[in-house]
Formats: sequence, structure tokens, C-alpha cells
Amino acid sequence: NDELFKNVISHAKEYGFVFPSSEIYDGLSAVYDYGQLGAELKNNIKTYWWKAMVQLNENIVGIDSAIFMHPKIWKASGHVDGFNDPMIDNKDSKKRYRADQLIEDKITRYQKDGKTEKANKLQADLDNALNKDDLGSLKAIIEEHNIVCSISGTKNWTEVRQFNLMFSTQMGAMAEGSDEVYLRPETAQGIFVNFLNVQKTGRMKIPFGIAQIGKAFRNEVIARQFIMRMREFEQMEMQFFVRPGTELEWYNKWKETRLKWHLALKPDQSKYRYHDHVKLAHYANAAVDIEYDFPFGFKEVEGIHSRTDFDLSQHQQFSGKKLQYFDPEVNQNYIPYVIETSIGLDRMFLTTLCNAYEEEDLSTPEKADSRSVLHLHPALAPIKAAIFPLTKKDGLPEKAREIMDALKMDYNLIYEEKDAIGKRYRRQDAIGTPICITVDHQSLQDNTVTIRHRDSMEQERVAIADLERILEGIVGW
Ligand code: ATP
Repeated sequence: NDELFKNVISHAKEYGFVFPSSEIYDGLSAVYDYGQLGAELKNNIKTYWWKAMVQLNENIVGIDSAIFMHPKIWKASGHVDGFNDPMIDNKDSKKRYRADQLIEDKITRYQKDGKTEKANKLQADLDNALNKDDLGSLKAIIEEHNIVCSISGTKNWTEVRQFNLMFSTQMGAMAEGSDEVYLRPETAQGIFVNFLNVQKTGRMKIPFGIAQIGKAFRNEVIARQFIMRMREFEQMEMQFFVRPGTELEWYNKWKETRLKWHLALKPDQSKYRYHDHVKLAHYANAAVDIEYDFPFGFKEVEGIHSRTDFDLSQHQQFSGKKLQYFDPEVNQNYIPYVIETSIGLDRMFLTTLCNAYEEEDLSTPEKADSRSVLHLHPALAPIKAAIFPLTKKDGLPEKAREIMDALKMDYNLIYEEKDAIGKRYRRQDAIGTPICITVDHQSLQDNTVTIRHRDSMEQERVAIADLERILEGIVGW
């Protein structure tokens, strides 16, 4: 599986999906750039989410709030005081770790060695220390279990300290302390503080939702696993406002709906599971993660949380502005309860790549052969079709261009005339292009072309006049 993950990462780089940020300067830790195909794939994932959430639900609307917000927002939300990771440094190697992660790794090691009882006991101790924010206990656990630094091999640890994950910067040119602003660590607060603006101007009636896609920033202590844990990333979040008392019904509905959204892309279904939270944040009355079985194990891709009226109440208190809704059906004013669905776009991107990537063995008894292929859902594929003239002469390129020009306003297409046709097919397989359209000499006679399908590698002869309808059938939503 380590091998598989390495292949996915190098494939993503080789074909222009994801590059390390600032690569010619040796990169910037946990920051990545999306290349020419990555940007397309990312946009298609966003479109799939936006259509499913905003376009298909008459009672959900989308906004785009600013990354910078009033600093008091992060006081009200609890991020200034509570959005911390416990961190510890090794004095010899000067390497920084997340204390809880070091212990988690030890638990995994115990499990691998068959020391189940020891693993369970350690897990319980860890949960207990984290629940109580007991930094001293974390340090004690690290010492007691002889956890050493992977670089220096020593256990010369500092104390455990809380490390706030928010990035801050100065706004304006003032030298005083009051102008410090944060880069938002989640998009949700931009929705909460606009709750009444949207409700009033959009004449929304409860239950209704507000959705948003946007960047978020977290100063993660450790960067691991490619685009799984980044310092700059994107979230797709939706807050659904409901009448108090109905929240669990809506929670269950969204829990089901969101998993269906993932499964509608036709991935290997066994790679998805729910992980219900047993320990809940103090403001939540239900929470679940949708987990995907990455090459490094099941990990959260999306969270669905029943957040009660915690956020709106906090903002009402801190801003001094009423954030209530008058519900004509029950003739009552109240602060709505909120169900939140929160998915990381980059994690969804990684899930999509892991699902799609295959090194397919095409060997026959006569000949060894294989291909790299991305079995992307056609609606997500960066390039919808490739158009090839069989040769560079006899008017074939002109005919191919004609077809391309007629379709390129509606579909993202690629034109290629270099290399043998087989080689061109393989290149498109590797980037997930669902079909290749080849123009040959017969095309000039009877206006037909060959279509070659990515997954089955089968070919068929079709009329040029039918191409638009065929493409729509394959790549349409
Ligand atoms: P984790 O426990 O993995 O750090 P989290 O519980 O802090 O995640 P949330 O705060 O619930 O995550 O954020 C919602 C979603 O945002 C996550 O499900 C994940 O997909 C995404 N996300 C969170 N942190 C990162 C990150 N550093 N890089 C990329 N995506 C992230």
C-alpha cells in the first residue's frame, strides 16, 4: 500500500495534477499547487458538489464570504482559546511532533505486534488526557512508553505545549496590537455571521441551508500524507438551519444524503464507512465522519455535525445583535439549530485519485503489457475527449480541427497529432480521458470517426453528426 500511495503521488506530479508548492526553491511544507489537469479536476469536483447541494435543493443557497473576518468572530467561535494541538519538541533533533500523534503511532505499533491489551489501555489513557486537556499526562505517557524521536532516536523531550493552529497577520499599517487578523481556519463562520443577511434578502424559510466553497488555513504541526493534511486547503461546507427539536431527524437525513453523494461516483463501495463519534464536542449532540480507505488506512474525508444553536448563540452574545428567526408556523422566535456538512476539497481530490488509479496488466500469453489508467467518473475527468487525426497529412488534421471547433465550447477537449495512435491512447488513459476520437481517411469519405473507450478499450464507428449526443451521454451529469 505504501508503494501504491507513492505511485499515486508520482502519477499526480508526472501528469500535471499536483506539484509541491515553490518546488524550484525546494518546496514549502504542506503546501501544494494544482497543475493544468489538477485545476480542471478540482473544478469538476466543486461543480459536482455545488450542483448537488445548491442547484438540486431549492432551499439551499450559496455564498462566497471573505477569508479575513473580524477578530472577535474567532473569539466567539472558540478558535482563539480552543483550536489547539498539543505539541512536543525533541531537544536533540529539534524536531517538532504532535504529542497525541506520537502516542497514536505507538498504539498502532502495539496493535501490529499483537499487543492488543496494551494498545487499548494506551488508547484509553490518551483519550482521557485529551478530554481533560491534561498536557502533563501526555508527557508522562510519552515517557512511560519509551517513545523516541524518529530522527535522533532519543527521548529527550520538552514539556507538552498547546499550539494554536490559526495563522495571523496584520491588517492595515497600524503598529498597535489591535489590528491582528486571522486567516480563517474554516469557512463555516462566514456562513454563521451572514445567516440573517441571507435569510432576509433571500426570504428563506426554515429549514434552509447556506453553502460555501473556499480556502481555509491551519498551521498544522505536522504535515503528512501529501494533500491529506495541508496548511492551505479548501473546504466545501453547508450549514442547514432547522427548528430546535428537529435537528436529529435532519442530521440523519444529511448523513445518508452525503454518503450517497460519494457513492454516486461509483467508487469501490467497500472503501467507504461511517465513523460515529462517541465523544462529542461540548456543543454537538451528534457527529459522524465519512471515512475513505486510503492506502494508509481509513481516514476522515467529510464530517456531518449536529451543532445545536452553539455558533449562532455565541455570535449573538459576542456581537450584541439578535440572530433569531421568527417561525410563522409555530408563531415563535428562536435561534435555529444547525446541521453542518463539511468536506475537504483536497481530501476529496485525493480520494478521487486513489479510487481511479490503476496499473492494469494487459499481458497476453504472447506479450507482456500494462497501462496506467485513471478510471475517473467521466463527469469529473479533466479532459472529456481527445481528438486525433490518424496521420498529419491528407487533410486529416483539418477534419479533426473542424470536429474540435464544433465541440470545444461545451467540452474540454484536447487535440494531438504527434506519436503513434497507440501511444496517444495510453497518454489519455493515464489522465482519465473517457474517449478518444480518431479521424482517418474513411472519415473524409463518409463523415464517420472511430471512438475508443478508456475503460473497455473497445472501439466503435460513429457518425460525426452524432458525436455531440454521444459525448453528452458519456460525460453529462
Ligand atoms: P482532522 O481530524 O483530519 O484534522 P478535522 O476533524 O480537524 O480533521 P474538520 O475541522 O471537521 O476536520 O474539517 C472538515 C474537513 O476539512 C475535514 O473532513 C477534511 O476533509 C478537511 N480538512 C481539515 N483539515 C485539513 C487539512 N489540514 N488539510 C486538508 N483538508 C483538511
